[in-house]
Amino acid sequence: MKYVGAHVSAAGGVQNAPLNARAIGARAFALFTKNQRQWQAKPLTADTIEAFRHNLQQVGIAAEHVLPHDSYLINLGHPEKTALEKSRTAFVDEMQRCEQLGLKLLNFHPGSHLNKISEEQSLDLIAESINLALTRTRGVTAVIENTAGQGTNLGYRFEHLARIIDQVEDKSRVGVCLDTCHTFTAGYDLRTAESCETIFDQFARIVGFDYLRGMHLNGSKPDLGDRVDRHETLEKGKLGLAVFHYIMQDPRFDEIPMVLETPEPDRWAHEIELLYSLQ
Ligand SMILES: [Zn+2]
Ligand SMILES: [Zn+2]
Repeated sequence: MKYVGAHVSAAGGVQNAPLNARAIGARAFALFTKNQRQWQAKPLTADTIEAFRHNLQQVGIAAEHVLPHDSYLINLGHPEKTALEKSRTAFVDEMQRCEQLGLKLLNFHPGSHLNKISEEQSLDLIAESINLALTRTRGVTAVIENTAGQGTNLGYRFEHLARIIDQVEDKSRVGVCLDTCHTFTAGYDLRTAESCETIFDQFARIVGFDYLRGMHLNGSKPDLGDRVDRHETLEKGKLGLAVFHYIMQDPRFDEIPMVLETPEPDRWAHEIELLYSLQ
């Protein structure tokens, strides 16, 4: 079965996110468990946690189909020690918030080398950061998202994801999330069924579908290989609908949360319906 939704608002408290998901006909959703542009956040209160769990149950969405996203400030591959420590502390806090909410996944962008160390050195720091976070939390899987490769962001090659996973000690608690916009602008052509076959075969070989724990379903404003992260609605932009048809038809994408991060929230209900119609 396919589980499609969107990255919904948690304005007014995380407990509102499940209700916002239900309002658009979602069977899955993403959310920020704190303000994504700030380092500090107040701890979740017992009331908020209780209300979130209650609402999640009310809307009939399983914890496995919720894909929280961490703060954009965190860089787990940061070349400088103090800044790396700050990111690692914030990441553990994000993992613990998920744990408190009864959630199973935490989606994050791997990190950036900032032109101060090599890609490989930064990737190895990311793996070390994940290992540290996993020893300090329980039950939450670290889900590495592939990126567009904008600036010095890592994770734009499947090989980057594989290198990180290879060094993670507890392989049962590491996974990946593929973002269709990022994959495409990173240089992987997904515009036809044939090209999707080729690219997802590469993914299967280099990373493996066993590690696929979520998808971000986005159109793309930039073109193939532009390495710019700018999402578009599904029906506009440079990507086209073939990839979504492919994903909705392929059982390798069953049972995982697949979440829209498209720019027009008013269209989410329509986009979710559109995706289900492609099955
Ligand atoms: Zn994404
Ligand atoms: Zn993006």
